[in-house]
Amino acid sequence: MHNNEIKVFIGIGSNMADPQQQVIDVLPHLDQIRESQLVSHSSLYQSAAVSDIPQEDYINAVACLTTKLQPMELLLELQSIEYAFYRQRSDELKWAPRTMDLDIILFGNIQQNDSHLCIPHAEMQNRLFVLQPLQEVSGDLYIPGLGSISYLIKQAPALRIKRLD
Ligand code: ADP
Ligand code: MG
Repeated sequence: MHNNEIKVFIGIGSNMADPQQQVIDVLPHLDQIRESQLVSHSSLYQSAAVSDIPQEDYINAVACLTTKLQPMELLLELQSIEYAFYRQRSDELKWAPRTMDLDIILFGNIQQNDSHLCIPHAEMQNRLFVLQPLQEVSGDLYIPGLGSISYLIKQAPALRIKRLD
């Protein structure tokens, strides 16, 4: 890793249209983001949707990238990948379920909170479907302003979740 590259963790989620395959298929897209490289990714995790609307289980994973982009530039790249996945499935599109959700969980040690971007991700401490794959891929990191991942896992709301083989 060069010293102008920053390590980032991306949360991946899908619960529509063969979500396991969608999560696998998005990985090469992450590797193709300009000035960025996919370093590693977690296993896939299956969890209950946290929603008032009944919907399919989610499939989640966390990917580790190195990037020379700024946070907002990376967010725009992620949104264009999301858009490509939505478009492929547009005839099946509904509001709440997602074909592809890509969130910036951590961006180096940056702490940022404005109308477009909150880093670390504002809900990460409440989401076992982020914390468990993050721990698998990063080890027990200290999250700026929040604490260690293992501490956050102990504190997080209960959720039905399992790691897939
Ligand atoms: P969510 O992921 O919360 O279910 P969306 O994917 O629709 O919802 O994202 C809505 C907005 O959240 C995005 O347009 C983006 O500006 C904002 N946002 C704030 N912080 C982040 C982050 N860390 N990663 C991704 N999006 C973020
Ligand atoms: Mg999102």
